[in-house]
Amino acid sequence: MELLKGKTAMVTGGTRGIGYAIVKMYLDNGAKVALCGSRQETVDKALDKLRAENPDYKVIGLCPDLQDPAEVEKAVATVKETFGSLDIMVNNAGVSARESIYDYKPEDFAKTMALNVNAVFNCAQAAAKVMKEQGGGVILNTSSMVSLYGQPSGVAYPASKFAVNGLTKSLARELGKDNIRVNAVAPGVTRTDMVAVLPEEVIKPIIAGIPLGRVGEPEDVANAFLYLASDMASYVTGVVRGRGRQDLTGAGCAGRSEEVWGRPSRHEMKMKKIVK
Ligand code: NAD
Repeated sequence: MELLKGKTAMVTGGTRGIGYAIVKMYLDNGAKVALCGSRQETVDKALDKLRAENPDYKVIGLCPDLQDPAEVEKAVATVKETFGSLDIMVNNAGVSARESIYDYKPEDFAKTMALNVNAVFNCAQAAAKVMKEQGGGVILNTSSMVSLYGQPSGVAYPASKFAVNGLTKSLARELGKDNIRVNAVAPGVTRTDMVAVLPEEVIKPIIAGIPLGRVGEPEDVANAFLYLASDMASYVTGVVRGRGRQDLTGAGCAGRSEEVWGRPSRHEMKMKKIVK
């Protein structure tokens, strides 16, 4: 299947984990891809791994400072020069931390925000300019299920992902007129380096709350990114799509309204009466 034939994508945080799975899935679906990482060394390693799997992959590696708007614009221009267009921008790079509010250093809070929020803004802005000129495109952001529920420590991370949802929904409203769709995927716990550092006592209760009884694989998340980037999602914008934990509806908005809004919807109240 080649759902992205003829399209060009740029994927931040593409060297490992979820980003790498997205890059590979996009390449396997006929896209040309620019993968971005924070260090040349890890970018080269990812490129070598991909080329060893398939020497025909059309893939380049870039290393812009995502927090510098000028560097991001330059990277976007390089993608356009190399492949002729930029059709899909995936803002996936992110960092997480779990410090208690009592120990949280303001500079660490700012660091998380700078990558998880400001960089998303920089990349979305640079991509939107090119996409508007081209007549359209797709911007996808990696959020998290903690953007719906919060988490018991490390407040910057959920705060940053709430902001990603805000960017997603507002940009979708602003850019629809330019034929640019903007959506986010909100993964639950996914087997990557980010999660490998979590102790067993943190992971176990999380798995207990996952309907399918397992953590997600990066490919589970990449599948959602493939769908949203493809023309199959041509009438989908402004959606934060859950993946895994408590995504019981699977229909765009993660979770049931009772979980998301803290109160049941009218339909759920009716169902509760019927079940009783
Ligand atoms: P990971 O740590 O395996 O990968 C993170 C990626 O971000 C790497 O490619 C890294 O190079 C890049 N990155 C880190 N700091 C950077 C910087 N300063 N500048 C540029 N790039 C930088 O993590 P992952 O689990 O694959 O996470 C990818 C995205 O998924 C993140 O936005 C994360 O918040 C989100 N997410 C992950 C999970 C999970 O359980 N793994 C759950 C929900 C959301």
